[in-house]
Amino acid sequence: MENIAENLRQVRQNIAESAIKAGRSPDDVKLIAVTKTVSIERIEAAIHAGVTAIGENRVQEFLPKYEALAEKYPHVEWHFIGHLQRNKVKFIIDKVDMIHSVHSVALAEEINKYSKKQNCNTNVLLEMSLVHEANKVGFSMDGIVTNVKNIFLLSNVRFKGFMCVPPFVRDAELQRKNFEKLRDLRLDIMNGMSYHTSPQTTDFAQYFSDKDDFELSMGMSGDYQIAVETGATMVRIGSDLFGRR
Ligand SMILES: *Cc1c(COP(=O)(O)O)cnc(C)c1O
Repeated sequence: MENIAENLRQVRQNIAESAIKAGRSPDDVKLIAVTKTVSIERIEAAIHAGVTAIGENRVQEFLPKYEALAEKYPHVEWHFIGHLQRNKVKFIIDKVDMIHSVHSVALAEEINKYSKKQNCNTNVLLEMSLVHEANKVGFSMDGIVTNVKNIFLLSNVRFKGFMCVPPFVRDAELQRKNFEKLRDLRLDIMNGMSYHTSPQTTDFAQYFSDKDDFELSMGMSGDYQIAVETGATMVRIGSDLFGRR
């Protein structure tokens, strides 16, 4: 069996080095262990090695793992990171700590509806499409402020920031530019909101007075060090922890 503990130590060390290089604290970056295709036994080994946040991308795979492990390890967070269909929302709503992959207002509305029913609030990130691709998923930069406002109006959904999954590119500097787009967007939204004057946007400003509450979920095994250098607050790592799928 591969040494998950050693992989975890190495990834943590790389995150810390990149954070320090960028003048950030390593504690400001949350490591999410992406466990798709990974067995419950190996996930448990990862938890014993120190993993505290799990990321799954399919509802059918998430549910049995959650049932097996959530109660036993109450300190572990469950993040949903994959494409979520509206008809599957109801299965995960009171189980997940955060949904990273909200790609439309309609999906956010569905999350709100079931969160209300379950009497809970659900933390969401908006999935941003940074690259112009044919079958891109997610919000584009244009009109994003309006979309964020629409999310804010939902009573049981908590906007917590942005997520992106740009295709891996070998050229690190190209990927850095993608991550910088999201970093700059986050700053624009936080700063912009503080000088807008309509009641709605003033609420925004108050909300973001705690700047730590605006997450950037970006970076995977191939590019997380660049993502951390560029300001990621969450990295989602699968193969560097569990080996190639
Ligand atoms: C699989 C996956 C990851 C992790 O990818 P690795 O390259 O294995 O680290 C991160 N984010 C999402 C959305 C994924 O589906």
